[in-house]
Amino acid sequence: MKTTMANNAILSELTYQTNEGALRFEGVRYLLIRPETLASVQGVLEAEIGAEGAGEILYAGGFTGGRLSGRKYKESFGLSDREAVEFMCRMGGEIGWGHFRLVELDAQAQRLVVAVESSPFAEAYNQAGNNGQRSPAGICHLIRGVLGGLGEGIFGVPVHALETQCLANRKPYCQFEVLAR
Ligand SMILES: [Zn+2]
Repeated sequence: MKTTMANNAILSELTYQTNEGALRFEGVRYLLIRPETLASVQGVLEAEIGAEGAGEILYAGGFTGGRLSGRKYKESFGLSDREAVEFMCRMGGEIGWGHFRLVELDAQAQRLVVAVESSPFAEAYNQAGNNGQRSPAGICHLIRGVLGGLGEGIFGVPVHALETQCLANRKPYCQFEVLAR
């Protein structure tokens, strides 16, 4: 496994504006945040409104980012649908969201399958002891949302996005499926 920063196109292109305290890639602002912060938010949401409602809220957040990013980088770099998905998968790792692997992109069947190893969300979730109302379908709703938003942008129709297995549920890695609704 490569660990050098030299392979990370996002980090090498990231700009830092000291007066704003802002990190940007291609003019788009990003922030670093500890996974424990997100796990804490998720734990409180689950306790307050249940795992399903919490999942929907986090999914919606990820979805917005995925749709915007998919569209932006597709246009900026003149990418095909497949190239945009490959770019987003590579970027997922480069911004620290785990190691993304495109398993299947079938534009005809409107189906996208992505595996993610070492999800920081699942690791932090387990470390936080969020063992209350854990969804059997997985807890990495931000990744699920990003892929849902990306898939909807690519397929041009409303989609369902599922996490079919999750590291937080003692599976070796997480896997996601995006399908036309
Ligand atoms: Zn997961």
